[in-house]
Amino acid sequence: MLQEFGIADDIRARMLNWRHDLHANPETAFEEHRTAQVVADALMEMQIAVDRGLGVTGVVGTLKNGEGPVIALRADMDALDMQELGASPYQSTRKGKMHGCGHDGHTAMLLGAAVHLARHRPFRGTVHFIFQPAEENEGGGRKMVEEGLFEKFPADAIFGMHNIPAMPRGKFGIRTGIATAFLDTFEIHVVGKGCHAAAPETGIDSIVIAASLVNALQTIVSRRIGAVESAVVTVTQIHGGDTWNVVPEQVILRGTVRTLDAGIQDRVEAAMKDVCAGIAQAHSAEIDIRYMRGYPGVINTPAETNAAVSAARNLVGEEKVMTDIKPAMGSEDFAFMLQKCPGAYICIGAGETANDPPLHNPYYDFNDAILPLGAAYWVELVKQQLPVA
Ligand SMILES: [Zn+2]
Ligand SMILES: [Zn+2]
Repeated sequence: MLQEFGIADDIRARMLNWRHDLHANPETAFEEHRTAQVVADALMEMQIAVDRGLGVTGVVGTLKNGEGPVIALRADMDALDMQELGASPYQSTRKGKMHGCGHDGHTAMLLGAAVHLARHRPFRGTVHFIFQPAEENEGGGRKMVEEGLFEKFPADAIFGMHNIPAMPRGKFGIRTGIATAFLDTFEIHVVGKGCHAAAPETGIDSIVIAASLVNALQTIVSRRIGAVESAVVTVTQIHGGDTWNVVPEQVILRGTVRTLDAGIQDRVEAAMKDVCAGIAQAHSAEIDIRYMRGYPGVINTPAETNAAVSAARNLVGEEKVMTDIKPAMGSEDFAFMLQKCPGAYICIGAGETANDPPLHNPYYDFNDAILPLGAAYWVELVKQQLPVA
């Protein structure tokens, strides 16, 4: 029988089918009903116990083989609200929806691993296969945790994986500690006093105040956060004014803050409130800021990071597993699971050329060539964490 990284030919063929089927039928946050059905059917076919409905469309498969430790493996299932521009035979059949982040591939790889593990049972203990909804924006991982994921399925460790087109295929990358940024959003209302554009002295100009606020916010990172610390404050929206000759009463600003440390996150939030209060006072205006904490950082625990590294090295060799990659300023809701359970999140290289389309690009397409390696990584991790003898 043909094998690649120990994954049998028929499992590789099934992974390819799942991947293309899910790619053609992308579903976004909490609407992954068809996807969840495909996943549940595949698990049940292998006599894996299936739980459905955590986080609306979440699926958890449980495979027990004797007494032993419990490991949880997590894949995300959701697509993005974007129009696919690539033309594959399995391109998206749903307008404005696309698997632009490769979660179709993540789901296929974890299903492939489940088939292999159910067939050969090379472990002693319990494996939970967690298929989560709504990783993009809506925090499906948080919802599963809030609805009792770990009370229902306690685990000694949990592991996640993401494909990275910018990293060559055949490589893995990981780091201990913070791996992805804390992501917060803010909305600021600058309320002045509307007036005639010819007589600004009769009002309070919310546009001028908003302009100085945007600049002042940029001094938080440059003047209040140390040079070797990390933070990004980005204003992404400015809304105000309707016509040529009226100074608007109000301007609304929105944007995001990303940090790599909970202490710095606190400091940036406090500094933003300071700046808003100070600018308001200086201009006799009113400035309200709403600061919303979003996804926390993914923080890999040391022992589980080592386990991930050693599983990956067993497959591709020591030199192809980078153990100190830079943290990403993007964010990932696997972080909510790591707040409850030790674990590690690994990046699997998916790049064939130096300029493969990046994640969230309309021409992006998950690289099928990594399906066997991804599945083999899960299998290797289970074998190591749940040894038979
Ligand atoms: Zn994404
Ligand atoms: Zn993703």
